Amino acid sequence: MRANESERRRAFQKNVNADLNASQGKRRNGKSWRRVAALGVAAAVAWGASTSGLEWNDVFSTTAAFAADAKKTEPSTAKGFAEVSQAEIDAAFEKLRPAPRLLLTDEALADVKKKVDADPRWKAYLDALKRRADKTLNAPPVERKLEGKRLLGVSREALRRLFGWTFMYRYTGDVKYAARVEKEAVAIAEFSDWNPSHFLDVAEMTTALALAYDSCGETFSSENRKKVREAIRDKGVEEALKIRGWWKRNNANWNQVCWCGTLYGALAIADDEPELARDAVRQAVNGVTWSMASYEPDGNYTEGPGYWGYGTGFNVLLLAALNSALNNDFGRSKARGFAETIRYYEHVFGTTGDAFNYPDSGGGKMFEPTAFWNARNLGDVGVAWNENFQLDAAYVATKHKVKYGTRSIDTIAAHRLGVCALLWGPIRETPLDLAKIDAGKPVDPSEYEFGNVAPKELGYVGVGDGRNAVALFRTAWKRDAAYLGIKAGAPNAPHGHMDEGGFVYDDGGVRWIVELGPENYHRIESRGMNLWGMNQSSERWKLLRYNNFGHSVLTLNGAPQLVDGTTKIVETKIGSSGEASSATIDLTPVYRGEAKSVKRVATLNPDGSLIVEDVVEALADREIKVERRLLTPAAVEIVSERVAKLTAPSPVHCGDATLCKTVETQSEIPSSFSVVAAETENDFDSKNPGVSILIETATVEAGKTATFRTVFSPVERTEKSGGEKK
Ligand SMILES: [Zn+2]
Repeated sequence: MRANESERRRAFQKNVNADLNASQGKRRNGKSWRRVAALGVAAAVAWGASTSGLEWNDVFSTTAAFAADAKKTEPSTAKGFAEVSQAEIDAAFEKLRPAPRLLLTDEALADVKKKVDADPRWKAYLDALKRRADKTLNAPPVERKLEGKRLLGVSREALRRLFGWTFMYRYTGDVKYAARVEKEAVAIAEFSDWNPSHFLDVAEMTTALALAYDSCGETFSSENRKKVREAIRDKGVEEALKIRGWWKRNNANWNQVCWCGTLYGALAIADDEPELARDAVRQAVNGVTWSMASYEPDGNYTEGPGYWGYGTGFNVLLLAALNSALNNDFGRSKARGFAETIRYYEHVFGTTGDAFNYPDSGGGKMFEPTAFWNARNLGDVGVAWNENFQLDAAYVATKHKVKYGTRSIDTIAAHRLGVCALLWGPIRETPLDLAKIDAGKPVDPSEYEFGNVAPKELGYVGVGDGRNAVALFRTAWKRDAAYLGIKAGAPNAPHGHMDEGGFVYDDGGVRWIVELGPENYHRIESRGMNLWGMNQSSERWKLLRYNNFGHSVLTLNGAPQLVDGTTKIVETKIGSSGEASSATIDLTPVYRGEAKSVKRVATLNPDGSLIVEDVVEALADREIKVERRLLTPAAVEIVSERVAKLTAPSPVHCGDATLCKTVETQSEIPSSFSVVAAETENDFDSKNPGVSILIETATVEAGKTATFRTVFSPVERTEKSGGEKK
């Protein structure tokens, strides 16, 4: 099996190269894409954008807007947004709130106190924030030590510390926190600079110092007060306004983070630097529209759930500060797409709580403290399902020492914006029924419900700019319900994979079909491989995690999906409770030259079963060797040519039961199943331990059309003590 697989891969590579040499210039969009890709790479090099490990947020956040930016430092607004004039800003400043005005106002603190009294989850969360704040009280202040070209890790630690201590000072009134804030703020103010060559570092640092100065500045000595204020002015706000930052009119996360930092600095020192503050606030309010426009029309975020958290989180901080300081966000929070984007974000997590982790998103569970603001902004606190889910699960796990395969409350509260969850999270109207949860004993997930804290719809379809369109369905907002996340778009989208038609599938608390996620950027680049080329022949596509061999998609004649083909979700149905949901994707554009047409229809049924049907139409003169791949972490047993049995790796919450699913092909032409490990013999490919690829192979004759159909059964639950139930 292994030999066949590597042979297949060698043939594939040959195919890639041949395909490329033959087709440069032939592919319709090749030229314009190469231009954008070149800009992206140039910018990544010029600004030291990271390509390592956890720092993937800011890589490739560059578009053609970059070229225009270099000529201007003054941002106008993006199309569709009204430009806010200096006169409007000046008028708003007439009502500038006295400090503290950044988030931690008296009203906000009173609201937190109410929440902590009413909801034990928030009491536990507050305790975790306090443990975190206390843990670093005696640590030495952060130092200006660069990692490569970046200071970002230091800026982030500074933000985590200063936001945490500042909040604890405001909440408890204990001056030990304010004293520690002063010490840290002075140390940072004395840095020679905050590393403006990689401006995210300045932005996060300015945000941190602004929060500190705003809430604790009155307790500083007058000398330190002046020192910190001048550092915010000189190293933060003025630095941002004077540089020709490409991010000023960029459409992704840098724009949001950098304008946020600038705005925070400006509002913090507005009493002493009124003119600078008003100018900076006007530029931030207008400049941030460039990224806010990217959520149009439906809130889908092209860069996936991981980037969503970083960019949207700082965008939220910016809007929330406008409201807390000026009681006026100039209508920005109601912008089309941005106002609804929480729907995209909440649906992009499966019922297991794991993200549908396309393109290059980290997998697993995430907790974005600022997402509660988006839900409030939409007027529906229940829509922040993932955050409620993470909080509930962490609370139960911590209080009752029950492992849910989730994280502790200390872990989720350790987010550097962790305070925001407490500011904006809802009181749970239906208290968790802890009496049902027997300490130490695994719990049937079906008993663990979310009551009123759930979105109303069972699905979301978002097209965004078309490069990463998604259809996201579930059978219920419950842990053991079924979930399907499927995508269309183009492989040459930022961070794109050859994953068109790819999907993830949850049921019974288990993720049965997975997306492998990103390769380790640093490891690939340190080998001298070009990870960021987005041409058909780019080395990127040698990687199993990026090409179609490492996705639950079709492969036709061993060929890669075409990078410039843009596939579309052409039809969808979002079912109500008890109804099926389905999406139809026209995949033809990524298989041009191999097939006349290719269509995938995925249907999620209310009983948790899933049907994936592919209609493949061959060209008149060419047969098609079809491979339909499914990536699963389950143990795979080939029962017969057309039936396989998947056994879940034992999930932590299903007690003594073993969970299985039967996968049957009902394809109308002869086909057979085989299984290989999700790895290659190439040393540049990461291992994917425990993941298997179930492959159905068949041949469609020239001129013919074949329909392939895979049916996943509902979860089959076998109690270890014997007996079977569903
Ligand atoms: Zn992928």
